[in-house]
Amino acid sequence: MNKKDHSKICIMIVPYTKKVKKIVIPHWLPKAMVLFIVTFFIVLGLNLTYQENLKRQYKDKTLMISVLEEEGIEKDQELANLTFQMKELQKTANDQLQQKMNQVEMKLTDIENLQKKLEEMAGIQAVAQGGGGSKEIQLKAIDPLEGMEVLNEVLVNKEIELEQFIKTLENQFEYLESVPNFMPTAGRQTSNFGNRRSPFSRRIEFHQGIDIANARGTDIVSAGKGIVLFSGYNGGYGQTVIIDHGNEYRTLYAHHSRLLVEAGEEVEKGQVIGKMGSTGRSTGSHLHFEIHHKGKPINPLDLLQ
Ligand SMILES: [Zn+2]
Repeated sequence: MNKKDHSKICIMIVPYTKKVKKIVIPHWLPKAMVLFIVTFFIVLGLNLTYQENLKRQYKDKTLMISVLEEEGIEKDQELANLTFQMKELQKTANDQLQQKMNQVEMKLTDIENLQKKLEEMAGIQAVAQGGGGSKEIQLKAIDPLEGMEVLNEVLVNKEIELEQFIKTLENQFEYLESVPNFMPTAGRQTSNFGNRRSPFSRRIEFHQGIDIANARGTDIVSAGKGIVLFSGYNGGYGQTVIIDHGNEYRTLYAHHSRLLVEAGEEVEKGQVIGKMGSTGRSTGSHLHFEIHHKGKPINPLDLLQ
């Protein structure tokens, strides 16, 4: 082999029988083959690793999907549970609301009854405006929320009605306090209202009030709440008090030994206004008592309790 043949490799095959065969291959071929094989295995290895990775990734993804699916199912269940709980809560709330409204309704009925009783007691005929119709409460078979609105309206109306009722009651009490129906003194009734024979002239004359006799100095009290119109000496009546009670009622108290109130003063029912005496045209210590209604004297015994 000379130097020029360095680029080639000569392989000689020597069989037993036949002549020698000579195969000449380039000297880089074995190296290339080794390189090729190494490369092939590297590529194969890489490929396998890649596939393995893909497989693993696929497995992971599948696992994730199943986990997610499970979570999804759990979430669905949770949602269903929550919805159920919410419905239950709403139902409970509605039930409680309905119950509360029934209670309020019952209370309102109680108030209505109490009001009616008080009205009867106070002698008030009809306080509620618009007759009995406004008193009707219709809350049943209504959606609870609508019911609340209706209830609110009913309560507001009830409040107005009760305010009016209280005002009427106050007026009624004021009236009852002012009506002169309280016995103005203690003692023996010696003269009635109406025609009688005069103890002075012996002639028939009209006696405008009643006479009640007792010891001098016995308390004389106002027959009702009112304002003193007159307190002083008044001819035959002697020392006299006249009280205006409003509602066209006036009372007159005559023959006092002492006067304890002044004109313009406000007096309560039962308040002492003077002391019994015999001043003026009188035959002995007594109270001459008159009640005037609408400008005319009425029989005090018709009003006194
Ligand atoms: Zn008299």
